Amino acid sequence: MRYSGDWLTTVLVGLPIGLSAVLGWPGGTSIPELLGWLGRVTGVGGLACLLVAAIMSVRLPRLDRHFGGLTRLWKQHHYLGLASLLLLMAHVLLMAFSRLPWGLPAMQEVLLPPMADAYMWAGWVALIAMMIFLAPSFQFFGRPDYQRWKAIHFLAGLALVAGVIHAVPLTRTFNLPMTLLVWGGLGGLAILVFFWRALIARPLMRQPWRVEAVRTLADRIVEIELRPTRHRRMDFEPGQFIYFTPHDPALSAGRNEEHPFTISSAPGGDTLKIAVKDLGDASHALQSLNEGSEASVEGPYGLFFPPESRHRKQLWIGGGIGITPFVSAAEAIHQGDWAEHWGEALLINCANDPSRAYYLEQLQQAAQDHPKLAIQSHYFVEHGPLNTDFIRQHCPDAAEREWFVCGPPALTRIARDIARELGVPSSSFHSEEFDFL
Ligand SMILES: Cc1cc2nc3c(=O)[nH]c(=O)nc-3n(C[C@H](O)[C@H](O)[C@H](O)COP(=O)(O)OP(=O)(O)OC[C@H]3O[C@@H](n4cnc5c(N)ncnc54)[C@H](O)[C@@H]3O)c2cc1C
Repeated sequence: MRYSGDWLTTVLVGLPIGLSAVLGWPGGTSIPELLGWLGRVTGVGGLACLLVAAIMSVRLPRLDRHFGGLTRLWKQHHYLGLASLLLLMAHVLLMAFSRLPWGLPAMQEVLLPPMADAYMWAGWVALIAMMIFLAPSFQFFGRPDYQRWKAIHFLAGLALVAGVIHAVPLTRTFNLPMTLLVWGGLGGLAILVFFWRALIARPLMRQPWRVEAVRTLADRIVEIELRPTRHRRMDFEPGQFIYFTPHDPALSAGRNEEHPFTISSAPGGDTLKIAVKDLGDASHALQSLNEGSEASVEGPYGLFFPPESRHRKQLWIGGGIGITPFVSAAEAIHQGDWAEHWGEALLINCANDPSRAYYLEQLQQAAQDHPKLAIQSHYFVEHGPLNTDFIRQHCPDAAEREWFVCGPPALTRIARDIARELGVPSSSFHSEEFDFL
């Protein structure tokens, strides 16, 4: 499925590349000329990818819908970052090799420029900063600590500024007005977004909420109910998530740290609920969050159930804590507000055993009360891994349905394989993993 944001991204990245390729075409076919041309095009492409990736990190509620939701947007941001790094490394090598006919000193001028050549050094600063801040994103040295990864990511600001300083005087394929338009426009916006995220967004976008109740759902899982303190309730859709920042001074970890959690209650209530599984320091500490403590909430974000798919018959596959978006959707249908525009849904509730099937009673009640909802439990200890036969047996028309899958990566992989085997088009398969890295 293509979203309007995808077209915008394609234009913002593709236009500078296309322009530099056409305007900078050397005419001749000598190898050094072609290498120089490719070097300039990869440089323009790499910088455009870097700047557009930075612009995409703006994180504004509702804007992410135009990109298919924040999780999808972060994925695109991630791949643009990788593309940028690869293109810029190729840029350096191609520019150096294009000077080979003029001897090693000419090549050296690219790889080790004279100290006085500030614009060339700015390029190196940008590339080295990118290598440092992108290495953890691609887990070159194993899975990074999330908060450390976030802190290192601030080096992106240095890469953006240095990259633009390098490009403005050195982009030879654009004339001056076009250079200012392309690099001034994209670079200016990217740097603005960076400062917005680093300095302004937090105080402006986070709203004060209070922890109304904390209930134990199962071993190492709590449900937290939140109430806004100064403003009206939050408008959200099933499947969306919030950034939750607890301020409880008694927390042993994660105080004032934001973490994303899917809303598990139905839209329209005065409070909202999230369910938190103990998966690390901060989520462990949240298990003993104090009722009445203060918190901040930012959002809502995400687009798990795209509006154009909602009216169709659906198969929901929820695993472990990945059940939360389905709890919200089932409640919304159960309460009637969303039922009219929502297709029939069968939920396959995957859990290791009945003690890990969260929200089971609530979901069964909803299915009993509403004809559009049905639920089927799948227990790993009893049925083994989810497979095609299980789906065929419990959902004979699975191939004609929209698939929504939320759970651990292994479950998403299995569900995707089954969907492929059954001939479900990839546009009808929607999945979300609780992981941005
Ligand atoms: C869109 C989305 C929805 C989610 N919904 C739920 C939910 O409904 N219930 C639930 O229990 N969990 C949910 N999670 C996962 C939850 O955010 C992490 O379990 C939590 O942030 C872990 O933090 P930690 O410090 O306890 O663990 P850590 O050991 O620090 O982190 C474990 C992993 O969680 C991820 N993570 C950690 N901190 C953050 C952060 N600030 N932002 C993004 N990812 C982070 C990283 O991948 C990290 O490797 C969701 C995650 C995402 C991305």
